[in-house]
Amino acid sequence: MDLRLNVGLISKYTNKSQVARVLTEDWVLREIYCPSCGENREGYENNKPVADFCCKSCFEDFELKAKVGKIGKKVSAGSYEMMIQRIGSKEKPNFFFMGYQNQVWVVSDFFVVPKHFFVPGIIEKRKALSDNAKRAGWIGSNILFSQIPQAGKIFYIKNGEKTKKSFVLKKWQKTVFLKQIRNNESKGWILDIIQCIEGLEKDVFSLQDIYQFETVLAQLHPSNTHIRPKIRQQLQILR
Ligand SMILES: [Zn+2]
Repeated sequence: MDLRLNVGLISKYTNKSQVARVLTEDWVLREIYCPSCGENREGYENNKPVADFCCKSCFEDFELKAKVGKIGKKVSAGSYEMMIQRIGSKEKPNFFFMGYQNQVWVVSDFFVVPKHFFVPGIIEKRKALSDNAKRAGWIGSNILFSQIPQAGKIFYIKNGEKTKKSFVLKKWQKTVFLKQIRNNESKGWILDIIQCIEGLEKDVFSLQDIYQFETVLAQLHPSNTHIRPKIRQQLQILR
C-alpha cells in the first residue's frame, strides 16, 4: 500500500474541495481493498455521486469522508434530518474515514466503519443556523467517533502505520452478526454493551464487571427500568 496521493492529477483544478476530492478518491480506488471480501481495486466501480464506491464482488457500498490532518473526535455529516433518515434506510452505506497531510500529500489515517454500527446515538445534532445565515434554521450533524465501539472502527492505517490485510478482513467479519439486528433500539443496546466490555480492557470479565456500568446504561436508556436483566440478555446475544 502506497500512502502517497498522486499530486500529478491536480494541475487541472484550482478549486480546493475539487482537488481534495480528486486526490482522495483516486487514492481509495488505487489502494483500498474491500474490507468485506478483500477484492482489490479492480473490484471497485466509481459511482455517482462522487466519492462513493461499490464493490463489484460483494456489492457493499462505501462513502468516503476525508479531511486534512487528524481525523479527530467527530466529522461533519451534513443535514441532521437526512442523516437520521439514511441511518434508518436499507440503502445506508459503510463509511470510509481518511485523514491526510496536505503539505507532503500522504495519508496518515484510514478506517472503515461498517454500516451496522450506524445508529442514531452516534449522530450529534448541531445548533440550527441563525436567522442571519443564508440557510437560516438549517440543522447540521456530526458523526461522533467516541460513540462508536473500537470494534466498529477498522483501521487500514493508523498514524501512518499500516495494518495487515488479514487483520482488517477478520475484524470486519467479526462485526457481521450485527447486520441481523435491524431494530435501532436493540442495536444501540448491543453497541453500548460492546463499549462497556472494551472499557474494561480485560480478556476475561464477570457479570459484576458489566454491572458497574448500570448507572451509565440507565442514563443512555431512560425508558428501560430493568437494566441488569437487559445486560444479561445482551451478553447472551454477544456470546
Ligand atoms: Zn467486496
